[in-house]
Amino acid sequence: MLAVSHPREFQICNEFLSLSTLIVRANVSGMESQRHGKSLVWFLMAAASLAAQEQGEERVWTVSNDVITARYRLAAATERFRLESIVNNATGDVWTVPADADLSPINFSTSTGTIDGRTPMRLVESRLESIARGGSRTRIVLRDTGEQFEFTLDLEVWPRQPALRQSLHIVPLGRAALIRAVDFMPWQFSGAGGSFRTYQVNQWAIIPQPVNFEPVETKLSPEGIPQTVSSGSGAPQCAWLALRDRQDRGLFWGWEFDGRAKVSIQHDAQQDRITVTSAITELNHPVAAGETFEVPASFIGTFQGDWDEAGYGTQRFAEAAIAATAPDGVRFPYAVWDSWGYQKEIDEVVLRRNAELAAQAGLELFVVDLGWAPQIGDWVEDPKKFPSGLRALSDYVHSLGMKFGLHFVPTEAAPESAVLQEHPDWVSSETYYYHGAVSLCPGHKPVREWVLKEVLKIIDNYNVDWILQDGQTLVKYCNRTDHTHAADDSNYSNSVDGIDWIVAEARRLRPNTVWENCANGGSMMTFQMLRNYVTSITNDASGSLGARQGMFGATFPFPPRYADRYMPDSKLNSYVTRSFMFGGPWVFMNRLPEMPEEDLRFAQTEISRFKGFRDEVRDGKIFHLTPRPEEGVVDAVQTVEEGEAVAVVTRDQSASPNFVLRLRGLNDGLVYIVTFADDPRVLTMTGRQLMGPGIPINFDQSRDAEIVYARPLPQ
Ligand SMILES: [Zn+2]
Repeated sequence: MLAVSHPREFQICNEFLSLSTLIVRANVSGMESQRHGKSLVWFLMAAASLAAQEQGEERVWTVSNDVITARYRLAAATERFRLESIVNNATGDVWTVPADADLSPINFSTSTGTIDGRTPMRLVESRLESIARGGSRTRIVLRDTGEQFEFTLDLEVWPRQPALRQSLHIVPLGRAALIRAVDFMPWQFSGAGGSFRTYQVNQWAIIPQPVNFEPVETKLSPEGIPQTVSSGSGAPQCAWLALRDRQDRGLFWGWEFDGRAKVSIQHDAQQDRITVTSAITELNHPVAAGETFEVPASFIGTFQGDWDEAGYGTQRFAEAAIAATAPDGVRFPYAVWDSWGYQKEIDEVVLRRNAELAAQAGLELFVVDLGWAPQIGDWVEDPKKFPSGLRALSDYVHSLGMKFGLHFVPTEAAPESAVLQEHPDWVSSETYYYHGAVSLCPGHKPVREWVLKEVLKIIDNYNVDWILQDGQTLVKYCNRTDHTHAADDSNYSNSVDGIDWIVAEARRLRPNTVWENCANGGSMMTFQMLRNYVTSITNDASGSLGARQGMFGATFPFPPRYADRYMPDSKLNSYVTRSFMFGGPWVFMNRLPEMPEEDLRFAQTEISRFKGFRDEVRDGKIFHLTPRPEEGVVDAVQTVEEGEAVAVVTRDQSASPNFVLRLRGLNDGLVYIVTFADDPRVLTMTGRQLMGPGIPINFDQSRDAEIVYARPLPQ
């Protein structure tokens, strides 16, 4: 990449490399201090490098940590503000922005004009700030020279994380603006003559066609034909994209927007460039003078390797920088019981009996699903089902040592509910028919304020630790003219100002209650979702194979704790339990009092196995050892955490009962002890053997599963 033809660019790269070397050194010494609890040293060193670069006529900002460096420039001659390059410090790979690129991180249109990389800018101020979780933020405040807008661009990095987060706030000066389009991820890089593949992952949906987290790899056309990711609530794909070339140099992107958005990537080999553009669907957002328009934040990261590497970089960055903090430390992800095995036929007698058995089996969170209230929207317990009150059940669950979870539907209400009797105008213009309810419009201010009040009430009244949020499509479409949002701005209003606001406010006001994302399945798989929820459903109780398929795809973009799985099966065996064991919370929907004693004992053993390696899955590097699970083959998924590996290997009616498991991510020269959940063998093998010739596995049943552990011998 350094051999670019333009001599000026070459000089910049050279100067830049020596500069980044200096910064890497500064940061490495800073990190050492940080281990001794002095993160301030790192911050001051970075601040010193920032100050040094702001001297002189040109304004240059180097945003850097130990693994990634991005360089921005406000050119004195042209008054243009742009990104110049992104560097993977570990490999030295440089992703260079073409000198003639018009792209800038500030790129949007209003009803009266467009602001982009060609717009002359002046600097108002810039500074380096220390932010949460040990990160650092370079804040650059600019105005266009026409003084129409002020822009606050935040560029954020966290130690050891190979990604840069970018967010932009726009404030109209003097007069109001109608924001009509915004490119929240404008990127362009020289392609250096390479050829590229992209990777994206579907969400969960039943309609218009069934999808279940299928990863999609595409060879990017060198003729500029774009590959598109359509993301957000109810969209076909997760809000994530990865790119790599033939040398396995790669970039990944994720974006924090729950509404519908499109991100496109194209490769124009003739022009030698890769271009990423993005758009928010149907944006028409009025912003008064002096008020702020929040552009969806996003991140870009670098990696070297395969799609598992892209996923690993994304996941660790998301955990370090974005994701809602997991509750309960080592006890998360929980082993969970959920009442949906009874559908809505629940009452306090049935639930208390299940709670006793759930606690005995080792389950840690007890969730009362849909059916506890008289109807959707009337958020008090049904007195016929709970004559002693739902709080009494919650207290009982807590007395058994479990957390108490409750199902809640923020954006729907039954037509006969009190809220809709009183406020029939609160419904959205389009309804989504969730269990007979009609849809509310949280883009309308009185609606979201009411929803917030209701959820705070149930948290307080019933002492709720966990909200299982559900509904059908959380970002509604509404073009009503009698709501507080603009009639043609439903997508942004119902996401940023609607569901996102409700959950963020509820979490701020009741920080001890965490949220699970569900909307009849994992259909809002975005990095904004990660900010508000501690986990997400993948697919909605669609069986053993479906559970493995959903987990397989979701664990590319998202940390594994965001792949929770609902187990509807009433008859348990190791094929069933292990199909649900790898990922985030493991949710039993079984009617426990109806289970045979031997199944309950088996469940107890399997739950303790899950607890034995859940932290390794949560914190580890995930390897997808086989293609996506299907009938007729064996599939395997693995984690490596602090040198220890755990793999779940599942036979789904493959012709042969034999399979050779080849682990990954181990140390060639170390010796490992290999044990199994079922197989009594104890093997001693080197990392080289485990990753090369592999471990022979023999299955007893045509549907069967084994857990394989490889732990290094102490040296
Ligand atoms: Zn509305």
